Parts: sequence; C-alpha cells; structure tokens
Amino acid sequence: MTAPVVRAEDLGKLFPDRGGLFSKAETGVQAVDGVSFEIDRGEVLAVVGESGCGKSTLGRLLLRLIEPSSGRVFLDGEEITGLSAARMRRYRQHAQMVFQDPYGSLSPRRTVAQIIAEPLEVFGLVKGQRETREKVAELLTQVGLPTGVMDRKPRQFSGGQRQRICIARAISVDPSFIVADEPVSALDVSIQAQVINLMHDLQRKKRFSFLFIAHDLAVVRHMADRVAVMYLGRIVEIGDKDRIYSAPHHPYTQALLSAAPEAKLKRTNKRIVLQGDVPSPRKIPSGCSFHSRCPIAQDICRVERPPLASVGPGQAAACHFAEAFPIPRTDDPDPVEDAPHRRAVSS
Ligand code: SF4
Repeated sequence: MTAPVVRAEDLGKLFPDRGGLFSKAETGVQAVDGVSFEIDRGEVLAVVGESGCGKSTLGRLLLRLIEPSSGRVFLDGEEITGLSAARMRRYRQHAQMVFQDPYGSLSPRRTVAQIIAEPLEVFGLVKGQRETREKVAELLTQVGLPTGVMDRKPRQFSGGQRQRICIARAISVDPSFIVADEPVSALDVSIQAQVINLMHDLQRKKRFSFLFIAHDLAVVRHMADRVAVMYLGRIVEIGDKDRIYSAPHHPYTQALLSAAPEAKLKRTNKRIVLQGDVPSPRKIPSGCSFHSRCPIAQDICRVERPPLASVGPGQAAACHFAEAFPIPRTDDPDPVEDAPHRRAVSS
C-alpha cells in the first residue's frame, strides 16, 4: 500500500477579529475546524457544501496560500506546515492551484507563452527560448488550444479559453497535487462541461491527486472518487462517491442530494428543504453545528458534538444517529418523514 500524497491532520483556520481594545484573540470566523483526511495518488476528492462552509479556505490551507491556525499538512509524506519560505518554493512545484476566476488570475500584461512558461522557468524545467516555446506549445495542445495563440494576451480569450490557459500553467510543472476551486462556476454554462471534461481527462492521464471544490453535485459525481461534505468548517460526511450518493448517512448530505437537479429529474426522493439559513461561522451552534437546521435533531444534538465516525467501508459521518441511517435515496418516498428518530424531534 502506498502512502497518501496529501494528508490533512486536524486542520483549522480562525480568521481573528481585528477589533479594538476589548477584542479577544480567540474571537473571529472559524472557517475550518478540525479537518482530517487523506488523498491517495491519482485520487480525486471532491469537497462540497454551501457557500461559506470553508471549502475554499481548506483548499488554500493545503497549499499554504494561507497559514493554518492549527493542525498539519503533509505532501508526499513531508510536513509542509512550518516549512521555511525557501523550502516552500520547492514544494510549490509539486502542488498547484486552479482558481475560480480565470479573469483575475491571469496577468493582463503578459502573453500566454509568458504566463505558462513562468513556473517552468522558476523551477528550472526548461532551458532557452526554443525549448520553452516548444513546451508551451505542447501544453497548449494538451488543453485544446491552438499553438498559434501563444503570443496573445489574456483579454483576447473567452472565459473558457482563459481557464484552459490556467490549467496549462497548473500542469506545466507536472505536479503531484492540484487544487481546483470551483473552476467552472465563473464560466458560461454552455462551456462548463468542456472544461470539466478536459480536467477529468488530464487527471486520468497524468494521475495527479486532485482536490476538487464544487457545488454542482452532478459534476462532482462525474469527477470524484471520494466526496467530503462540509458544513460550517467541518467535514460532516466523507466517503466513496458511490456510497455517498446511494446511501448518505448524514441528514445534511441527504438534503444536499435531494436538492440536486439530478435527483429531481429522476424523482428518486422528495426534496428536503432545510429550515433557516446557515448560522454565522462567528457563532457556530453548540453540539452538532447542524442542529439548528436538522429535521431530526434531538436534545443530545444541542450539547454534544458528534465525532466523524465510520459508518461502513470507506465512509464516515458526524451524526449521533448515523448508524441508523443509510438514508435510502431510491426506495423510500419520504426518508425524513419515515426516519426512526423523526417522532422524537424536539421543538
Ligand atoms: Fe441532526 Fe443530531 Fe445528527 Fe446533527 S447529530 S445531524 S442534529 S441528528
């Protein structure tokens, strides 16, 4: 068995308040809290959850684009939290990011060739102009762009083409790990599938480990090997994709899946509409942080935080009643109404 390429250990990020005289150091936004997981070589872990659940912060923590408040990150067995700036530069050859916004992440003054060649030059992977241009041409071909565009500027491209340039830059250094943060959400719907398919093909071909942050569950199903569901900075369920989609153990996962257009089309189950808004990450509810919206919450949920515990092979959920729920998505017309703890819900 090979070691995981990426390992997060009890990772946390608190953005402290910048307050006045009376502010306390421990107050602020707890964006990520106690997150642990591994990603194997060539594996795609998708992270899903509502806006503000901490998934983008998590992606940045793994690349040390922001510093964690607690916990550790390992890449290829080496702990990178705490590495000096010089050693982190070397690490960046092995871990790259594709950002959500292809408009803001490309320098408007540089040509496509300069943008794609930059990491190759920084890490000394090309020598001389001829080799650099050959390598850039090869990368453009890999992402489906004509080689004749390398002297153009980003403004001359559509959003989808710009994202292809970002992807070419990310794969140029042959990284072992890539984080993609909602890479198609800023693009026109008509071209999202093309970019998703490109990333999928490149990942399967190059076998890099991939953290794929997304909110579209149909896309996640297409891309991922495993899925992590986040709520208020914590992973509430993680597991093999097929198990998560067919038998979610956490009520929040079930609600997300029931709201996906794919579920509506297949009429596999009733939509579960969660009550209220996501609580502020400044004031995370006690006990199970999902209790204020959970349709099956009981008294214990308000006082005791459920651990992320195994609920079967390759699957774990953080719910006091997770064992009682592989919540069926296909047979049960109303999984929430019929759930064994539904009658015991406290007001
Ligand atoms: Fe709902 Fe309680 Fe499970 Fe949290 S622990 S998801 S509130 S049933």
